[in-house]
Amino acid sequence: MSLPSPPGGYQGRFAPSPTGLLHRGSLVAALASWLDARSQGGQWRVRIEDVDRPRCTPEAAQGIGLQLQALGLVSDAEVVWQSARDRLYQAAVQRLARQGRVYRCRCSRRDRLQARSAEAALRPADGYGCPGACWLRHWPLDGPGALRLKVDPDLVVSWADRRLGPQTQAVGQAVGDFILQRSDGLWAYPLAVVVDDADQGITDVVRGEDLADSTAGQIALQRALGLPQPRYLHTPLVVAADGRKLSKQNGAAALDLHDPVAALAEAGACLGLPAPLSQARAQTHSVRRWLDAAVQAWPWADVSRPASGPAARPGDAGTGPGPVG
Ligand SMILES: [Zn+2]
Repeated sequence: MSLPSPPGGYQGRFAPSPTGLLHRGSLVAALASWLDARSQGGQWRVRIEDVDRPRCTPEAAQGIGLQLQALGLVSDAEVVWQSARDRLYQAAVQRLARQGRVYRCRCSRRDRLQARSAEAALRPADGYGCPGACWLRHWPLDGPGALRLKVDPDLVVSWADRRLGPQTQAVGQAVGDFILQRSDGLWAYPLAVVVDDADQGITDVVRGEDLADSTAGQIALQRALGLPQPRYLHTPLVVAADGRKLSKQNGAAALDLHDPVAALAEAGACLGLPAPLSQARAQTHSVRRWLDAAVQAWPWADVSRPASGPAARPGDAGTGPGPVG
């Protein structure tokens, strides 16, 4: 459900994972979040989601910063790194533990995969929950294993997306008890993103549609932690030649910034910006002039009407900005 703008005003963010440079898909999320913030006189922040430390590199983070700079998308506040925020995540887990909502799961990945194939027909979206009744075993919280959030099996979460409209997910069935901290000690993405959004006072999450499915679980976690719920706008995805979402995993090339205006125009076209913006080139626009005009043309500016923006167009070549939270 959409919330009214808080007294502090609109706070938006772009949260790339530095597992590689930005590609055409991730630029769509970056640009959408920036335009949405600017069109509402809001702030826009960059947060480096390097919670999956083995897959992230400082070089990629630095490269992303340079790419955003070339595109005129500059963070209004100091860039935040998830890898420096262990204390916040720890505190959130402790809060949940005091409510008796956290338990250690000692099931192996193999256990989970076996349970998943056995239950796949019944619970197609399952595969994340604990298959071994660890909740009933009361393993010590400071022992080995993954930390999971206990989710009511009957929990259903409804929310409104500003582009996709009303959404409902049976989180208890489709997701189950999800992991907050992996058995190797790494924080899980849902915990980090929920804690960070609240800590940074984010009012509006604008990100790729591939993350729409994870939103209900994140809302469940916000509620468990007593945190405010931001508004959500999930952008169309850019698809690769094979029809799948363009991502680093399927070899999306780093953005060609030979002509930054052309890159912005292509992302703008995916977001429904009209010509001539969607066809602009360096010969016709400077980056600054293109961005100023795009703010004026941004079709999703009215955050007070969640489901009334322009509908997704059939040609919305979906894409999704990589793991952008
Ligand atoms: Zn388990």
